[in-house]
Amino acid sequence: MKWVEAVPVADKACGPCALCCKLFDIDWLDRPKAAGKWCHHCRPGQGCAIWNALPAGCATYFCVWRLDPALGPEWRPDRARFILTHAHQDAPLAVLVDPAQPDAHRREPYHSQLARTARDILEGRGSTIVIFRGQERALLFPDREVPVPRGVDLAEICIERRERAGQVTWAPAFPNH
Ligand code: SF4
Ligand code: SF4
Repeated sequence: MKWVEAVPVADKACGPCALCCKLFDIDWLDRPKAAGKWCHHCRPGQGCAIWNALPAGCATYFCVWRLDPALGPEWRPDRARFILTHAHQDAPLAVLVDPAQPDAHRREPYHSQLARTARDILEGRGSTIVIFRGQERALLFPDREVPVPRGVDLAEICIERRERAGQVTWAPAFPNH
């Protein structure tokens, strides 16, 4: 994970959510953990057992729901069953989906809004949202998800913009690996 300096929205609290304690790789813990496994300090539904002595990395992490006042309560990760985050080292914006509900981000209202956001990022930066689901990765385009082959470095993927008859589409090119 990497952090961006960010200030959470004042009236949003994690409450019973602890999904970041499950879905991230976390290497600063006394027992580092892989994505998809609960941190051994987490008591799901109750929170962190060491909340009064949190590691700095945990104390300073905020998902996009905590940072963006425009995202309503349905986007809180324990309700959505995915985390929207700027903190993944390989993606400017990532969706970490709970493997227990692998299609969570494909439901509405999430699907439409994520597709609009993907289009905005593609138009502005030429990159897009990356979906992480366990060990699987996929690029999100406005009209589809494209799986990323295992072993491909996300930084080496080129995304081509095509315009035909007023319709814009995007297509990834994966390096040989
Ligand atoms: S995923 Fe977001 S809302 Fe949930 S515990 Fe982590 S920072 Fe809080
Ligand atoms: S130490 Fe606490 S806040 Fe940090 S990952 Fe573990 S349960 Fe979550």
